[in-house]
Amino acid sequence: MTTSPSLLAEKIYQQALLSGYDDCGIIAIDEMDEYLEHLQERLEKEPTSRPFYQRIEGAMNTKQRFPWAKSVIICTWWLGRYHLPESLEGKYARAFFLAPQVSLDDEGLRKKDAFTDWLTAAGLRWEGGEKSSHLQIGGLRHAAMKAGLGIIRKNNFLYTEQGSFVMLEGFVIDESCELRQRHGLKPCSPQCRLCQDHCPTRALSAPFTMNPLKCVSFWNTFGKSQLPPALSENAMGSWVVGCDACQNACPYNKIPAAKAEKDVPEKVNQALPWLDPEKLKTAPDPVLRDRILPLCDNHIQPNEVDTLRCSAARYLRNQPNR
Ligand code: SF4
Ligand code: SF4
Repeated sequence: MTTSPSLLAEKIYQQALLSGYDDCGIIAIDEMDEYLEHLQERLEKEPTSRPFYQRIEGAMNTKQRFPWAKSVIICTWWLGRYHLPESLEGKYARAFFLAPQVSLDDEGLRKKDAFTDWLTAAGLRWEGGEKSSHLQIGGLRHAAMKAGLGIIRKNNFLYTEQGSFVMLEGFVIDESCELRQRHGLKPCSPQCRLCQDHCPTRALSAPFTMNPLKCVSFWNTFGKSQLPPALSENAMGSWVVGCDACQNACPYNKIPAAKAEKDVPEKVNQALPWLDPEKLKTAPDPVLRDRILPLCDNHIQPNEVDTLRCSAARYLRNQPNR
């Protein structure tokens, strides 16, 4: 490749915007090492989360996984562009049902895929993207923060100027280049603890710390809705798939109604009647497998339809006056 690093960075940025992303930054792959240090700190602060982090530690070692890579591209896609139907609020997490890979129509997906087509056509070796796995190329929030796309707040989410309902997508490439964005975000107030106070299971035990093995979002997806004895059924509240409580409580996440321009994609709209927990609990396998699970962004596998039924049944048991 003969393009200068700064010209390459500019071209990647332009292509990311053309492909529908909201923003894009690029960092050197060496900057991902710091993320592994944070992971260790997190383990020391919350040793009970060790089994979870040990399972993903290998996947988080970006440099070791991609020894040929020189830079990390990180792109953002704002989920707040959609009005979340009221019937989904407090039950289904935005990140699953509105993720672009789930929600975009064929034309939108083609446009998005044009980004990686362009990387290939430009002669770059690359890996990553949302299709690769839910762990993608490693610490995406860390990469986004280093690239100047936003800051990590006390609830551990990456916030851009538009809040934390942002999908991050990362790619490693075999050329060196760099692109830093700027933002005017202020850190959390030292007094604020709204996210912690709204966490129903106390998974957010301290600022910038989280125990995934206590998190609602873990148990009603990867955990197959089979709660451990230490977690009460009540604590799962009204969440059926995922949990947005610590993000919904955050003052930096108030999405101005005027900014949420679009209705949810047709795929979500068509699934709405089945997402009523009363119907979900008894929905036939083909409906759950073909119409609901594809909306869960690979967090529940096709042979795990009972996860949805269990979560719906628990939601119903947790409703007052039943
Ligand atoms: S997603 Fe829910 S359970 Fe998990 S840390 Fe946030 S508020 Fe707590
Ligand atoms: S709720 Fe408060 S402490 Fe938590 S992330 Fe938002 S501003 Fe920060």
